This record gives sequence, structure tokens and C-alpha cells, in this order.
Amino acid sequence: MSDLATHLARLDGHLARFRDTGILNLINGQSVAGSGGMFETRSPVDESLIAQVARGEAADIDAAAKAAKAAFPAWAAMEGDKRKAILHRIADLIEARAEEIALCECWDTGQAYRFMSKAALRGAENFRYFADLAPLARDGQSLPTATHLNVTSRSPIGPVGVITPWNTPFMLSTWKIAPALAAGCTVVHKPAEFSPLTARILAEICHEAGLPAGVLNLVNGMGEGAGKALTEHPDIKAIAFVGESKTGSMIMKQGADTLKRVHFELGGKNPVVVFDDADFERALDAVIFMIYSLNGERCTSSSRLLVQDTIADRFHAALIARVNNIKVGHPLDPATEIGPLIHKTHFDKVTSYVEIGLADGATLAAGGTRVGDAGWFVRPTLFTQASPQMRIAQEEVFGPFLTSLTFTSEAQALEIANNVAYGLTGYVWTNDLTRALRFSGALEAGMIWVNSENVRHLPTPFGGVKASGIGRDGAQWSFEFYMETKNTAFALGQHKIQRLGA
Ligand code: NAD
Repeated sequence: MSDLATHLARLDGHLARFRDTGILNLINGQSVAGSGGMFETRSPVDESLIAQVARGEAADIDAAAKAAKAAFPAWAAMEGDKRKAILHRIADLIEARAEEIALCECWDTGQAYRFMSKAALRGAENFRYFADLAPLARDGQSLPTATHLNVTSRSPIGPVGVITPWNTPFMLSTWKIAPALAAGCTVVHKPAEFSPLTARILAEICHEAGLPAGVLNLVNGMGEGAGKALTEHPDIKAIAFVGESKTGSMIMKQGADTLKRVHFELGGKNPVVVFDDADFERALDAVIFMIYSLNGERCTSSSRLLVQDTIADRFHAALIARVNNIKVGHPLDPATEIGPLIHKTHFDKVTSYVEIGLADGATLAAGGTRVGDAGWFVRPTLFTQASPQMRIAQEEVFGPFLTSLTFTSEAQALEIANNVAYGLTGYVWTNDLTRALRFSGALEAGMIWVNSENVRHLPTPFGGVKASGIGRDGAQWSFEFYMETKNTAFALGQHKIQRLGA
């Protein structure tokens, strides 16, 4: 296995070209500067400059949207098998460059290599999965009546905008872009300003794999500049957005004048509920994994632990010992379990919840402090003795920060679990099957895992309820968003038509 020094040396090789040219936009197959000049992207590891990035503004979005519009008819009309072949070539190239993607992603975002090496391959899987579905994307239904044969068919909606956040940006970009391309849509991608590296690599890969010019366009920039312009552009028919709930709300307003179709994957304050009959050790492993992996900067993280009072002391003791043992370090060190948070503002936000939790009367049972004085490293943090109304039990912290609450009865657990604004995921640990069915049925969340951490099966629907999102991703759910459905009714015979004015 590679060590930190090897990873750093390889990363340096990959970054050299970006240091020379900057990270440019890709519009209509051409690498171009942004009309807003350049902005810097810095590593959360030590704040060193990674590269200058083209700053796209409304004019660049307009050029990209026009390119996507021009490329749309040919791409939409291309046989599904041909689109399938191109998407498989994209997957091949992602696999071939998986190490480069993982190294760049770690350096750009602070995520640990042990997770990012898998996330890069997951990006390839996303393309493969939707490549195979591409020839079936138009499939419809036949819905006959006595007088008519109704036939439904689907067609791609048109050029779409994809706006992604900085957490696991490569994986999330592929998760949106692959189904859009498989459906026959063309895309303008606006990645997060804090993690532009791998979006550029993805755009290059798509180009190299033979995706025609204009089918995928990349415009970097700020949310209020390029992002806003994309959501307002009349040629962009839909926006697939992953990010904060309040940004989703803004995008809905911005897109109102052009009647944008929106798909939102937003924030979460996801509960993991551990009943006293659960497999203690497996539940412990899953609780720790689901909040401290990926630096806790994970929409599906289980940031609220609800543990039954009969086992709470034992569970907390085991939890504290393990949390204090989690390895915080350089993200490119294969041994590292938690890397630095994405940037100073986010670090300040996450660590502010230490004071907030203490002021509200919770007990800081582990962590809560910065590690080192360079980069945005924070110790994995655990609050116990918290109550459900505290801010640390209600608000999305989006860091390695767990709030533990105790409950006595199943009914109380359900009330606490549901009493937040969000509803993305829920995790239930019990060996009582009837309770598992009952509890998961009543839990307000788009995705629930019983006796498991988050294990994603690509054909299943992904998305949240309440403030956690609108719409679902995955297989046909993705196509429902990226495509229009048409019904054509064929008369089967001489059915009676009302005669007016006869
Ligand atoms: P964010 O909302 O600040 O930014 C996301 C993207 O939106 C960025 O590209 C940003 O530039 C852009 N943006 C910002 N303002 C905009 C505007 N007015 N118009 C158009 N675009 C705009 O989110 P973030 O801080 O980058 O990401 C973290 C958030 O993402 C967390 O809340 C997390 O839960 C959420 N998230 C959700 C999922 C999910 O599947 N539900 C997955 C990953 C992340």
C-alpha cells in the first residue's frame, strides 16, 4: 500500500498542470477562461494554494447553456446503444485515473484517502450503471382501454443544470451527470467553488471518451454568480441540486420565473436509534462509522444518536473510548480516519457548536478541540446528556460531531427522531422484527437502514423528505426527473364522438 510520502509525490505530479494553466472552464469542448477572472482554491490541509480557477459569471453560463442547447438535438437523438458505449468509456477512464481523482479530491476537500479511493471507483460505477440503462431510458407503457390504446413514451427534457457541493464532489457529480447523459440530456455543471479539481478531471474524461462537444459543459464560479445565473437561464430546463436546504430554497425562487423543474438533495439531521436488544458491537461500529467517516461532512451521517436508557451508560463508555481513538491526520495518509474540514468558515461553524452545546447544558464527552495550528483539523466530538430541543440536536453541524440523546420507550424514540426539520435518512438497530417494521414505517425519512450502516444499492431510490429534499435519484427515479413523459392515445375503432352543432 502507498504511504503518505508516495501519495504526496504522485499528487504533486498531477497538480503541476493545474498550477501552470489554472483550472479552466470547459464550454462546447473548449477550455476557456471565465469572464470574472480567476479565484483561488486552497487545500484545507495547510491552506496552500492548489491552483487558480476560472471564475464563470452570467456570460459564461449563457455560453455554456447555448452550447448545451445546440448539442441537445443530436445527443437526444443518438441511439441508446451509442450513448451506452460512450458512458462505459467514461467509466473506463475514471477507473484508469481513479488514484489521481482520489488524491486530488483528498487534497482539495480534506477527505481521507481510505474513503476517497472507493468514492472515485463509485463514480465509475455510477456511469456503468446508467450506461446500461441508456438504451431503455425512453421505454414507456401501454395502457389500453376498450376504445383507445394509450402509449406512453419518454424523451429527455433538454439541457439541464447540475449544481454540486464540496463534500465528496466527484461521486456526487457523477451521480447527477451520468443519469442526465443516459437520459439524453445535455448538461451545464457548476461545481462547488471550494472543490473544483475533480469536476475538471471529470469533464476532461468525458471529452476524451468521445462525448460530443457541448454535451457536458463545466462552468466554475460562485453560487451567487454562476450558480444563480444557471438557475435563471431560460434554456436550462431543470436543475439538479445537491447542497444546503437554504440554498435549495433560494434556487426555487431564482428558478420560478423560468418554471424550472428542480431536484433537491439537501441537509440532514439523521437519527440512529439503538434499542437495548440490538447487537451492541455492530451498532457501535455503525454509529461511529456513520458520523465520523468522511469527516462527518456527509448528508447521510447519523448525527443524532438515540440510545435506549437501559444500555446508555455502557454504550456511551464504549463510544467515548473509540471516539478518542479515531485517527485525525493528513488525508493522504492511508491510516487517517478523519482529515481537515473543508475551509475556515466551515471549521468556525462546526466548532461553534461546542460552545452552543455547552451553553445549552450538554456534556462534552469527547473532542471539541482543534488539532494542530495549520489546516482545519478538529477532534471527533461527542455530546452526551443532551436534550432533543437543544440546537446541537436540531441543526445540521456537518462535521465529526455526534449528539447523543436517550429514550425510555419506542414511542418516545419515535417522537424525538421525527421532531426535526429534516428527513433524509434513519438508522434503526433492534433484533425485534416487528418493532423494526413498525418503527421504520413511522420514521420520517426518505431512506432507512435497519441493522446496517448506509449501504447504497444503485437501483434503489435516494432522496429525502421534509427539509432534506425533493425528488429521488436512482434508476427510473432519475429518468423521471431528466425526462418528459408523453401519452399518445390511439383510437381502436369507431368509438362514439359527441357531435356538437350537428
Ligand atoms: P451549498 O448549498 O452552500 O452549496 C452547494 C452548491 O450550490 C455550490 O456549488 C454553490 O456554489 C451553489 N450555490 C450557492 N448559492 C447558490 C445560489 N444562490 N444559486 C445557485 N447555486 C448556488 O452547500 P455546501 O456547503 O457546498 O454543501 C453542504 C450541504 O450539502 C449540506 O447541507 C449537506 O447536507 C448537503 N448535501 C446533501 C446531500 C444529499 O444527498 N441530500 C449530499 C451531499 C451534501
